[in-house]
Amino acid sequence: MATGNINVTAENIFPIIKKFLYSDHEIFLRELISNATDATLKLKHLSTLGEIKGDIGNPIIEIKVDKEKKEIRIIDQGVGMTGEEVEKYINQVAFSGAEEFVEKYKDKVEDSGIIGHFGLGFYSSFMVASKVEIFTKSFAEGSKAVRWECDGSPKYTLEETDRTERGTEIVLHIDDDSLEFLEESKINELLNKYNKFMPIPIKFGTREENLPLPEDAAEDAKPETITVDNIVNNPTPAWTKSPSDLTDEDYKSFYRELYPMQFEEPLFNIHLNVDYPFNLTGILYFPKLSKSVDPTKDKIQLYQNQVFVTDNVEGIVPDFLQMLRGVIDSPDIPLNVSRSYLQADGAVKKIASYITRKVADKLISLFKNDRKAFEEKWDDIKVIIEYGMLSEEKFFEKSDKFALYPTVDKEYFTFEELLEEIKPSQTDKDNKTVILYASDVKSQHSYIDAAKEKGYQVLLLDSPIVSHLIQKLEGSKENIQFTRVDGDHIDNLIKKDEEQISKLSDEEKETLKPIIEGAIPKETYTVQLEAMDSNANPFMITQPEFMRRMKEMQATGGGGMMGMGNFPEMYNLVVNTNNELVGEILNTKTKKKQERLIQQAFDLAKLSQGLLHGEELTKFIKRSFQMVK
Ligand code: ADP
Ligand code: MG
Repeated sequence: MATGNINVTAENIFPIIKKFLYSDHEIFLRELISNATDATLKLKHLSTLGEIKGDIGNPIIEIKVDKEKKEIRIIDQGVGMTGEEVEKYINQVAFSGAEEFVEKYKDKVEDSGIIGHFGLGFYSSFMVASKVEIFTKSFAEGSKAVRWECDGSPKYTLEETDRTERGTEIVLHIDDDSLEFLEESKINELLNKYNKFMPIPIKFGTREENLPLPEDAAEDAKPETITVDNIVNNPTPAWTKSPSDLTDEDYKSFYRELYPMQFEEPLFNIHLNVDYPFNLTGILYFPKLSKSVDPTKDKIQLYQNQVFVTDNVEGIVPDFLQMLRGVIDSPDIPLNVSRSYLQADGAVKKIASYITRKVADKLISLFKNDRKAFEEKWDDIKVIIEYGMLSEEKFFEKSDKFALYPTVDKEYFTFEELLEEIKPSQTDKDNKTVILYASDVKSQHSYIDAAKEKGYQVLLLDSPIVSHLIQKLEGSKENIQFTRVDGDHIDNLIKKDEEQISKLSDEEKETLKPIIEGAIPKETYTVQLEAMDSNANPFMITQPEFMRRMKEMQATGGGGMMGMGNFPEMYNLVVNTNNELVGEILNTKTKKKQERLIQQAFDLAKLSQGLLHGEELTKFIKRSFQMVK
């Protein structure tokens, strides 16, 4: 029996590990299962290389909990350790046998899948255990089994023991302040969180399974049951397979496996797979974004060699894609650094731009292969795409090939198609092509109607960030301008050369203007006299495009909008001087009647914009009843 001091420079490293190394105590199980997995993977690699003779069987990992004895055991059938190896790998904190293996076999074994790296994981067991024992026997011929024990002080014990089978058994004597980990439900929760897709089968207890009934069984026959190992993980999750081996249904069922509480099917998926200049695999899903979507749930999960690490992918996945779901597995993401450092990391930047490119390429191919289906999905995916167009220049450049602009009648154009369609009719006298859009079909109905009557196309752009997006489009495309359809009278939105003749003379206009101004709140409404079609409404309320867009951008938080204060509500009151009623207002002799006419026409205009409420509405209704008497 040998005793000695664990070789660390600090007087006592355990308190440090316990307190600071891992903020989450629960990760001890992930670390120990990772080690057991590494030991098993090493065994398999050595067997493939012929360095181990004979059949290695189908090694699994087993977790056992003994609540009475306050013990958790992690048992593997991997390579095991000799006494010297225990001294080397366990006693020397921060010496990684995993890293050593990868280095030694890097030319012979491609993608070893080995998880360990820093030589610190094992010590996380002292976060929950007051004493740890290792029973281990190496695969190497003639090696003797050893038992190592340590109580969290730098002193350890190492002695021979009589274990006969190859592999390692770690015994954790759980500390009194960590007894929660002795609950079966807690262990199940941890296994499900961290180990669900690890590559070696993990057994936790047993379960009953029904045997299939024989063909000629009686109708009320009860199936026979057998007891089988309860394997808690799927060692070969979809993302580790080749896309050509997976069907649509496979992708969907993997989605359900990832998010068992999610009942909506995904819209489509993107399979990621690169090995140069970094290693990354994964599957991303575009979810159906229902109103009830909770962005904090069912997020993209990040794995390293099939071990769950986190579902906070900030800095790794571009912001606009964080609404996607799925998994990313990459051993190349440095996770022991702060997130802000991560964003500056060259490899991570490459990963983010790779993901962006793959998503754009997938959208292009979906659009090309089945445009109809793509159009049907547009409403569900547009927010993500529009956000991407705004935030990622590379994505914006590609978006011309798949971004859609639907009309109020649900006809879908690409930007190029749209321009071709509207250029002849919607180009104004200054040679700008005016793109008309509505944000709400119901409340802007009369304006949409007026535009359609002219033969114009009206888009329906109703996502929350639309004002930012059109600002961006106007900045990058030439000679176009977006205008919301209720921004002004249609003839003013797309100004052509032909002038309407005014029925009122200039003097008459000069008399009319102050009369109207005197009857309405001047601070909010600017009176604008226009000679329009005599059939067009006498009064119309519009909000200048610029004003409205600034307000919207301010509301959704936009670059450069800070510190501009709140914009006041400002509207135009467009008065059609060619409408009969306006002539009547001008020529009415009694002041009282004149005011009533203005008030009534003004209220009607407000009503059609949804601006008439409360006391004003009550007054309007009273006045209307008196007028029909
Ligand atoms: P890492 O896994 O990053 O190398 P650990 O502290 O988790 O660091 O483990 C240190 C080393 O101890 C491992 O690299 C491995 O050589 C050895 N080891 C730990 N657990 C086992 C095990 N179950 N079977 C065989 N060797 C093990
Ligand atoms: Mg480890």
